[in-house]
Amino acid sequence: MERTALQVARDHGYREIRMPVFEHTELFQRSVGETTDVVQKEMYTFEDKGGRSITLRPEGTAGAMRLLLEHGLHNEALPIKASYVTSCYRYEKPQAGRLREFHQFGIECFGTASPMADAEVIAVAHNVLKALSVEGVSLHVNSIGCPTCRKAYHEALKAYFEARQGELCETCRDRLGRNPMRILDCKSPICSAIAADAPVIVDYLCDDCNEHFHKVQDYLTAAGIEFSLDPHIVRGLDYYTRTVFEFVSDALGAQAVVCGGGRYDGLCEELGGPHLPSLGFGMGLERLLMVLHAQNAPIPKEPTCDLYLASMGDAAAKRCFALANQLREGGVSVECDTVGRGLKAQMKYADKLHALYTIVVGDTELETGKAKLKDMATGEVTDVDLDDGLYTVLYNKSLDRQFADVAQLLGDM
Ligand SMILES: [Zn+2]
Ligand SMILES: [Zn+2]
Repeated sequence: MERTALQVARDHGYREIRMPVFEHTELFQRSVGETTDVVQKEMYTFEDKGGRSITLRPEGTAGAMRLLLEHGLHNEALPIKASYVTSCYRYEKPQAGRLREFHQFGIECFGTASPMADAEVIAVAHNVLKALSVEGVSLHVNSIGCPTCRKAYHEALKAYFEARQGELCETCRDRLGRNPMRILDCKSPICSAIAADAPVIVDYLCDDCNEHFHKVQDYLTAAGIEFSLDPHIVRGLDYYTRTVFEFVSDALGAQAVVCGGGRYDGLCEELGGPHLPSLGFGMGLERLLMVLHAQNAPIPKEPTCDLYLASMGDAAAKRCFALANQLREGGVSVECDTVGRGLKAQMKYADKLHALYTIVVGDTELETGKAKLKDMATGEVTDVDLDDGLYTVLYNKSLDRQFADVAQLLGDM
């Protein structure tokens, strides 16, 4: 799954980055937001030996932005397009598909305010889900505006929740004065019931935000990506602005968000950098795996073993070992026996590896230098010369397979 996701991202120009597993706690407080569930309840925060407060990353975006600023990547040609697969940590009640250590595939697109970038980021998520054969997923989009239009919205929200203040949970009563939008994603059933009828932000968007949102929808439509408008998506992190989106699956009974993201135009400045409009998404891999299992979707296969070299006797084993190393240098994936198994057990093992081809090397093959290359799928046998031309034969066969794959793909289209 990770390979497929990263490859799709690469096809869209997103290159892989690696981030440290922990950051200064302050980074998440400032970016994810003091009043969010993540910061208030779910972070793994420790003091290190130097008395510094550090936190295991609860998500990927804050660390990616910190990395960008620290290495001055924002001074390079924009946008900077990054992708990653990371482990994340949240102290939550463990349940199916929600683990305290979980894995996320994500992308970030730094340095573009264009609505076309919003559509591109959404398209990457759409295409990853498609490449993984995930079915029954629907895309929900919303705009949560900018600081300008949010002022009026905050007032309206505050007035609405103040009228029912006594019913809210303790955390939300505190949020009321500090950030009423966070009440919208409180997990308490009473708070969420009250939040269901709260004013929605799309009614308060300023002209710029409104225009941006409409253009995003135009680009999505142009790309043939279906979506529905959902005024209730607010995403539980403070850094989001304008476009927010979720891909929701119905495969697990209840609606499950398999991917969520959005724009965060103010985050870079918030962290002491320049104004750098940016956006991205995160995809929870464990939950996605559950969806794939529920749908009996094919899990992407491991890379195959091109050739298994089976040997009979010490001399042949040595010859195979040397030959395997030579072929691997040329990029062929080769395995040979490293256990000392008999021929029958070796062939069984080759079968288990789903090796595409096998060659058996015994005394005769050692003497003549000639052997038989067996195609394990068709049983077809090709005479090969162990000392000369084996690489070319394997290379040509792999080209044939690739052409067949592409032809089938084009046929499917
Ligand atoms: Zn606005
Ligand atoms: Zn609450």
